[in-house]
This record gives sequence, structure tokens and C-alpha cells, in this order.
Amino acid sequence: MTTPNSLLDVISRHWGFSSLRPMQEAAIQAVLDHRDSLLVLPTGGGKSLCYQAPAVLKQATTVVISPLIALMKDQVDSLRSNGIPAVQLNSALPQVEIREAEQAILRNEVRLVFASPERMATAGFRALLRQMDVRTFAIDEAHCISHWGHDFRPEYRQLNQLKELFPQASVHAFTATATEQVRADIIEQLGLRAPEVLVGDFDRPNLSYSILPRQSLPVQVMECVQRHKGEAGIIYCIRKKDVDAIAGMLQKSGISALPYHAGLDPQTRKSAQDAFIQESCDVIVATVAFGMGIDRSNIRYVLHTGLPKSIEHYQQETGRAGRDGLEAECVLLFSMADVMTWRSIMEKSVDEANVPVDPEFTRAALRHLSDMERYCRPVVCRHKALVEYFGQRYPHENCGACDLCLGMAEPVAEGNLIAKKILSCVFRVQERFGMNHVIDVLRGSDTASVRQWGHENLTTYGLLKEHAKSELRDWILQLLSFEALRQASNDRPVLKLTPFGWEIMKDQKTVTLLKTPGADSGTARPARMDTSSWEGVDRPLFDVLKELRKTLATERGVPPYIVFSDATLRDLARFRPSTPERMHTLYGVGEAKLKDFGRAFIDAIAAHCGTQGLTQDVVDTRPPITPPVAPPKISTNSVQAMDLFRSGANLAEVMRQTGRARSTTVQYLCDWITVDRPKSISRWVSEATYERIAVAAKEQGLTHLKPIFSALNEEVPYDAIRIVVTHLVLQSLPAAAN
Ligand code: ADP
Ligand code: ZN
Repeated sequence: MTTPNSLLDVISRHWGFSSLRPMQEAAIQAVLDHRDSLLVLPTGGGKSLCYQAPAVLKQATTVVISPLIALMKDQVDSLRSNGIPAVQLNSALPQVEIREAEQAILRNEVRLVFASPERMATAGFRALLRQMDVRTFAIDEAHCISHWGHDFRPEYRQLNQLKELFPQASVHAFTATATEQVRADIIEQLGLRAPEVLVGDFDRPNLSYSILPRQSLPVQVMECVQRHKGEAGIIYCIRKKDVDAIAGMLQKSGISALPYHAGLDPQTRKSAQDAFIQESCDVIVATVAFGMGIDRSNIRYVLHTGLPKSIEHYQQETGRAGRDGLEAECVLLFSMADVMTWRSIMEKSVDEANVPVDPEFTRAALRHLSDMERYCRPVVCRHKALVEYFGQRYPHENCGACDLCLGMAEPVAEGNLIAKKILSCVFRVQERFGMNHVIDVLRGSDTASVRQWGHENLTTYGLLKEHAKSELRDWILQLLSFEALRQASNDRPVLKLTPFGWEIMKDQKTVTLLKTPGADSGTARPARMDTSSWEGVDRPLFDVLKELRKTLATERGVPPYIVFSDATLRDLARFRPSTPERMHTLYGVGEAKLKDFGRAFIDAIAAHCGTQGLTQDVVDTRPPITPPVAPPKISTNSVQAMDLFRSGANLAEVMRQTGRARSTTVQYLCDWITVDRPKSISRWVSEATYERIAVAAKEQGLTHLKPIFSALNEEVPYDAIRIVVTHLVLQSLPAAAN
């Protein structure tokens, strides 16, 4: 029998994590129960742990199908660094290595086998797996099986035989692609039986989004790169020539940047990618060709210099930032010109090879483009818009991490009046002209078209001449998205008034127009970044440790982020442990890594602290991560659970009655403790255990559970610690004002 506690112990020992993220527990349970499953989580959501941890816990061989050799190698390196035996099998490996790997599998020494779909199709490999009675298959990047996805790979199609070939095995699919159609297709293609379908939260709260008008590209690019000096970033461009120009400009300014696009030879591309992964290059300037297979976790910014052609692309490309969970910035430089460019590409009736394009395909592409364009208008919180696009509800009023919520887009003074002027101009040109012409009339431009139609004589001519073209365009876009205007297309899109537009004109309704962020300054102002994750971090020490990480990584031939993530480095430079025991309490420090790298880091920290006169073994004084600041979310289940706890029911009973997993039930208990503030919780945690936890918490602080867990020799289950810490935190607060 496996209990959630032993799962957490495995995760803490090998990965150095102290809790599971949302959806991970249920996904892991499905693997443990041998129930087919599909897990949809955004990039960086933590999908890999869901098939890795069960393999370790069950001590059983799991086969992972992965589309790219780079991805496989990364995962194998990462698992080995955590003390978990893993191998990869693909065509890039020499025969001897393949044979060695197969021998190791036969000796039942390997927990995770990464294989390409082509390998999976070979009779020899299948026979080997049958001999080993492999019962668990994980399909990574499962959307590759669907031609509805953005990354279809024909070789994935062969996986549809898996269930027939291994009828005893459970198959678990993982993807970050959220559309219903792709999801259904994955289930059908793989022949999953009554699968557990788990769809996680698509929001990435550590990413800040901002969209700025593209004004002076070189200046805006430089500004963003300078803001992130020494940090990793990806700059996406639509065209190869822009890639070359921007990479060249950055290199001239002494920034370690490299270009990447399909026009470069494979060797150059590979060495750029390697340099980026090995951290000898900070910035990659690329077309969308770059990214798949890039697992570097400390990418601190993604800058789009051009418009992605769909929200899916935008989500995927920005998703590469901040995989380590630390703050990262996504900036998009918007220009209507890109919309036009994409549109003309998409509207071509034949493709590059002169093959006719399916009109259905063109329509879908144009729809995606117009969704993306709408997203760029300063109307709805960026986090909210993204999450809702993927069919989820966004629960917050203000995300605190986008240009709009941070109030960088202020209301325009006299916005309603401006709106009325625009609308009336549309009316005066008899709703027969497109955006550019309306803008020309409003600005009083002397163009051939204006003269041809005699529009210089209109009352609205020059009515908004003090405003820039880009501002007017933006406001018209806003009026379109408020549906005060609509675009009817004849040969070219023509602006027309809607009933709502008429109401504004007649003063029955009003609208607020927003200033384009950065419009005044003329340069890019980013969404303000949350820098709290730097709190208490000694930056010079962080840099020292970063160098050490690079050296150790090079010695071992693995990427630096496999040694430790940035989050761990910051913890090391913040708490500055002097002993392995202390170091073991930090995020991401499992047993294998402690053994492997502990000494080197502890020595480096001691040396730096010695010369700089810094204290070591700093106690965590940051406010608790789970403070009862916000009232807990109340759902029907949690109401029922709280009632049960109130009447003294124990955890098992509540689990049974609500049908919830243990961790959720523990969360309900903590919610109830927060709401009701019971004096004693001895019904759920014995007084002796409570006392032990309280003593350890006094020393280790109430911020993180892992140090308490370690201080108690890993003998007390996490759940108990979580419950007691919740209770302790509340006691340290003043009584609730009802
Ligand atoms: P995905 O495959 O969904 O893109 P990964 O599996 O690469 O995401 O995980 C993203 C990051 O989150 C990794 O750095 C991983 O170590 C970290 N991570 C995963 N699960 C947890 C957890 N339970 N606690 C802390 N960090 C985690
Ligand atoms: Zn927002």
C-alpha cells in the first residue's frame, strides 16, 4: 500500500520538493492505480513529476515516449542528478550505448526509459518491454499525435497500437495544448479507456504580460535587454532578416546574443541552442523555429517583436519563460502592420509549393489571428483574457502582473468625447471607409484619397489632429472591441456603427478609452515585476554560485539548470547554509544532489561569507506563504467538509464523505481551522506531535514546511506539519474582527 506520505517522502528525498502542485496528486494517483489518464497542464506546470515519481515509488520500469532527442537527454540528465536511474533510446545514440541501455533495462535497474516513437515501433524493443512486463507508458507532448494540434508528428500515429500491444498496461498522456478538439483526439488516437482527464489551471501567475505599441524597435529591444542584463531571454521575430539585424545589434553592444532561424545551417543552429542551454549565451534572437526542446528553466523574459499568429502560439512561446516558478516578463510589441502582413500571407490561395490551400484552413487561421489581435487591445486583464481563451474562469479582479491591472494603461482624459468624434467621423464618411482613411480624416491629413472624396470639407476633418496616428488606431481598436464599431469587409474592412455606437453618439451611453501603455514616453515600459523572490538574497553570492553551477555542469556535461534551479540558488544565497543538514532543508535539494554538490556549494558560501562579513544560517523571517490573508475559497465540498470537521469528524471520514483526495481534505481542514480558529486541534494531530512540530517551527520559522520536516528527521508526515503550522500561524495573529 502506498500512502500519500510515502509519496511526499520520495519527492522530498529525490527532488527536494515539499509539496505537490495542483493536479499532480490526482495525476500521480492515476498512474499508481493503472488508470489511463490525460493531464493537461501549461508549460512549467510540473507534468514530468507525474510519471517520474510513481516509477520511483513503485520501483517499476516506466516507458516515456518523447518527440525530441534534446528533451529526452535533458530529462535523463535531470533524473540521474536526482539519483534516479534513467536511460534513453533513440537513433542518435551509438549502438553500444543502446545495447548497454537495453542490458540495464533487462537487469531491471532502470526506472525510466525514454524512447522515440520510432523506437517504440521496432519489434525488438517491443519484445524487450514485453519480457520486462512493462505496465506503464507515459506519452509526453501527446498533442503531437493530433493533426489538430500545432505540432503534428506522423510518427506519433503509430502509438495508436500501444493499447493493443500491451493490453495490461496503462497509458498516460501529457500535453500543454488545451483545446477540446486536440484533447478528444489524443484520447481517441491512443485508445485510452475511461481515462482520468485532468485539466490544470492555465494561468501562469509568475509571468507578467505587457503589450506596447511598436515604435522604435531597436530602442525598445535594447531597453528590454538592458533591464535584464546577464539574464536569459528569448527575442522572437517574424522574419529571418529581423533576427539577423537584432542579433547583430545586440552583439555590437557587447551582449551575448545569437541568432536562430531556419535559414541557418543545422550546425550553427545547434551550437546556438547549446550555447544558450549551457548558459554561455544569454539571449537567443529567433523565429518561432526556436523553442521546442528548450527546457532551460531560468528564462527571465520573452520579447515578441512581432505579432504571433495565434493565442496558442503566444501562450506557448511566452510559456518558456519562468519555468522555475520565479518572476519573468513577457513583452509584446504590437503593430497593426503585422496583422496586415499575416493576413496577406494567410489569404493566399496557394501555399509556397503552389498547392491550393483548403479554404477551411484559411478561415481558421484568420480567426486565430483576429483573436490574437483582439487580445492585444488594452481592454481586458491579460491573465484573465488568456485563461478565458482556454476556457477557464479567472477568479481575480486584478492580476497585479499585467500592464492593464498595474494601471499602466490609464483612462484617456475626455475619452468619451474622443470616442464620439471618432464615431461621428465614421458616420460622416458614410460608413464606407476603413480605419486608415478615417484616421486620415480625423487628423486632417492631406492625402489623395481624402481629396478625391472631398473629405477635407467634412465637419470632422482635423477634429483630432493633435493625436498620433497610432493613438487613433488604438482607440478605434478599443471601440471595435467594445462593439461600438464593427468591421464589415467588402474588399477591405470598412468601419460601421453598431447600435451601441449610436447610443454613445446620442449620449445615452458612455465609454472610457484607455491610453496605450508607454504612449507618452515613447519607450517600452514593462509591467512592474514582482521582485519579492529576491528578498534577502545576496546578489554577489548568487553570481558566485551561478558560476560554480556552470563549472560543475560543464564537468558533468549537463546543462546548469540540472545542477540546481535558480530558485535553489537564490535560497542558497539567501539562507547561506553552513552544513549539509541546513542545505538539505532548502528548495530543490534532494539527497543525491546534496551528496554530489553539497560540499562545493557549502565551501563557496563559507568563503564568500568570510570575506564579505556575511552571516550564515539565516533564519527565514519572510511572512508565511500560506497566511490566512484571503478567506479560503468556499465550494460545496469545502462547506460540507467544514461542517464535518466542526462536528469532530476525522480525516478519513471526511475523505470518504466528500470523495476528495487526502491532500484536498487536508486543505479543507486547514481552511476550517482558518475560518473557525478552534482552540485545540488534538482531534486531528496528537498533542505530542503538535508539541514536536511547534518546537521545530519555533526554530525554523513558519514560512516553509520543509525545514520543519527535516528538523524532525523526516519522521513527522507533511500533512501533520501543514495542519499544525496553519494553527500556529493563526495564533500569532490578532483575534479576528467579526
Ligand atoms: P512541464 O513538463 O509541465 O513543462 P516540468 O515538469 O518541467 O513542467 O516542471 C516545471 C518546473 O517545476 C521544474 O523546474 C520542476 O522541477 C518544478 N516542479 C515540478 N513539480 C514541483 C513541485 N511539486 N514542487 C516544486 N517544484 C516543482
Ligand atoms: Zn491583469
